Amino acid sequence: MTSANKGFTTTILHHDRQKSIEHGSVHKPVHTAVMYGYKDARELADVFQGKASGYRYGRQGNPTVSALEEKLTSMEGGKGSICFSTGMAAIGAVFQALLRQGDHIVSSSFLFGNTNSVWQTVATQGVQVSMVDATDVEHVRAALKPETRMVFVETIANPRTQIADLKRIGALCAERGILFVVDNTMTSPYLFRPVAVGAGLVVNSLTKSIAGHGNVLGGAITDTGLFDWSAYPNIADNFRKQPAAMQGLSQIRAKALRDFGASLSPDAAHQIAIGAETLALRMERACHNAKTIAEALAADERVAVVHYPGLASHPQHALATELFRHYGGLFSFELKPEIDCFDYLNRMQLAINATHLGDTRTLVIPVAHTIFFEMGAARRAEMGIADSLIRVSVGIEDTADIVHDFTQALQA
Ligand SMILES: *Cc1c(COP(=O)(O)O)cnc(C)c1O
Repeated sequence: MTSANKGFTTTILHHDRQKSIEHGSVHKPVHTAVMYGYKDARELADVFQGKASGYRYGRQGNPTVSALEEKLTSMEGGKGSICFSTGMAAIGAVFQALLRQGDHIVSSSFLFGNTNSVWQTVATQGVQVSMVDATDVEHVRAALKPETRMVFVETIANPRTQIADLKRIGALCAERGILFVVDNTMTSPYLFRPVAVGAGLVVNSLTKSIAGHGNVLGGAITDTGLFDWSAYPNIADNFRKQPAAMQGLSQIRAKALRDFGASLSPDAAHQIAIGAETLALRMERACHNAKTIAEALAADERVAVVHYPGLASHPQHALATELFRHYGGLFSFELKPEIDCFDYLNRMQLAINATHLGDTRTLVIPVAHTIFFEMGAARRAEMGIADSLIRVSVGIEDTADIVHDFTQALQA
């Protein structure tokens, strides 16, 4: 059986099995070995010298993790992937491995909070960062410099759900030969594949929708095969010996995964692979639930504003319709001033006051007082985050139950 023309879920379900696993096992086994023995010492030397493929040491590769990497590559329509212990480790790896002092990057200013914090660190280490409103490609174009190495955006920003001008930014990067990196966590490869808009690298936090059950952390970088690494100035000479298509990931695997060691454990890889089997089904339900709750809240006079790409009032509603299969499982909203956001959250009976997103359970959080507290009021104002903003990551509860939870909490 080949997966070439099969659907998204069929491909994932039968991916491991196609590799003829012993006893007809339907899952890639969890390989716990840290080291791998070779009968012929010459073969071990060949593996170290890159003349033969094989595993050496668990930090830079493991068969269970490789099976997940192959699955993610197929989900993203890419050419290769590397897994990390968390999504942040994957984001950190992009910078550790690919940027040098004197480089410049352009980033969307609507960013996951910890990525925003990484940029502050990068800026102290000699890489200049320009933060722009990436909902319009012209802001990105205006920020480009001769030393711009990379443009980084998220698909749907958290918590205000701004959508990057993905197609036009992709075209601009292609025209200028700049690496386009897309954090696809909020959409997941089921709703959107960044390869379709010219991304060279795709980052996913596997912790979120892909694993989906709040029980494991992981991250990944996928190379889509679209970027020409032979033209990238920061590839070291020893990686130049490889075919151009492999240079980016090879350098990331060695310089970030191997040297900094944020490796995904084989047990975590197994858990993530199980979660991925139902990604499409969970996304279908979560997106339907999110749209239904967002519409109910938007129609209620006690609610001041709802930010959800699925609402016609959303500034990038047309863009979301064009690019994504559905509008996502995350929205945010503000109540009218007479309802205190903490009181409202305390009246919820199903939704959990917790950070995290893309889970099977619905999670709610007062953003300015928690995940975006550390960045301070000025940066929050720039990002359009009001003190009363509530972020909702919608789960897969039965629709009527979860809609009721949000409407019942409105009655004081
Ligand atoms: C959660 C998240 C990350 C970080 O992933 P972890 O697995 O929590 O380290 C990165 N980007 C986005 C958009 C996220 O939502």
